[in-house]
Amino acid sequence: MIREYYRPKTALEAELLFSAGDKKFVPLGGGSALSRSKQEDLCVVDLRDLGLNRIEVIGHKAIIGATVTLQQLLEFDPIPLVLKDVIRKSATLNLRNQATVGGYLVSADGRSPLAIAMMAMDAVLIWHPNQQPQSIGDWFSLRQPRGFWINAIQLNLNLDVDYEQVSRTPMDQPILAISVARWPSGRIRVAAGGFGNAPLLVLDGPEDSGVLEAVKNALSDSGDEWASAEYRQAVGQVFVRRILDKSASSDQSK
Ligand SMILES: Cc1cc2nc3c(=O)[nH]c(=O)nc-3n(C[C@H](O)[C@H](O)[C@H](O)COP(=O)(O)OP(=O)(O)OC[C@H]3O[C@@H](n4cnc5c(N)ncnc54)[C@H](O)[C@@H]3O)c2cc1C
Repeated sequence: MIREYYRPKTALEAELLFSAGDKKFVPLGGGSALSRSKQEDLCVVDLRDLGLNRIEVIGHKAIIGATVTLQQLLEFDPIPLVLKDVIRKSATLNLRNQATVGGYLVSADGRSPLAIAMMAMDAVLIWHPNQQPQSIGDWFSLRQPRGFWINAIQLNLNLDVDYEQVSRTPMDQPILAISVARWPSGRIRVAAGGFGNAPLLVLDGPEDSGVLEAVKNALSDSGDEWASAEYRQAVGQVFVRRILDKSASSDQSK
């Protein structure tokens, strides 16, 4: 439960709160997860006045401020169309208007579509202070903050990303999701989700050979109350093959 609420006007004021030491301060994004928290005596520091609600494009990278809402990101033209669809699947319009990208990534689990796609795209979290970068894979495997709060999320736009999911209804949380990102150099990164506490990195390699085997291996322990591991392995391989076929035929038509 939220016991104390602070809304600093500058990063320095916020830093003073986080470094005070006598209480446990946590960053507040949109509050959609925190306001439901059953943890005792939360002291929240609202980040909304720190100017982190902007998206900048520098070269091929989008620098997404941590308090940019999911809806703002969806409406940002330079991001790939596939990602817009993934954001729609991640939350309803009301929630997209409230939830921030920073809060979303911190509270995401294995069934969070945008987190799965960002895992494939190898997003980088930039922490405050010191602008400490942390790869999204590192964040999801350790969940250890590199600073007081996430300032921004860096996303490479110079890649092709695709996403496939199976779920009870089209907008429901995935039972299995596969996202594939391909760099102009040939690098390929595949992430899976639809189960577990975090998106799973299936493969990060210089080319796509062995990708089907990698999917099968990565999903060998994915069984739960929603689906067996065998089902996820079979569907995961179909999704990857479908995505690679699609990108091969679009390469040919260029
Ligand atoms: C009704 C409902 C339905 C939902 N359905 C789905 C769903 O279908 N799929 C799905 O994936 N998710 C779903 N969610 C979860 C939702 O995506 C999260 O509640 C939301 O993304 C959290 O974002 P927020 O900005 O509101 O975070 P907050 O509630 O503000 O914070 C969440 C966590 O992130 C931390 N945090 C926030 N900002 C930062 C920052 N900048 N740096 C470091 N830490 C930070 C907070 O301290 C807290 O631990 C649902 C939530 C609700 C309420």
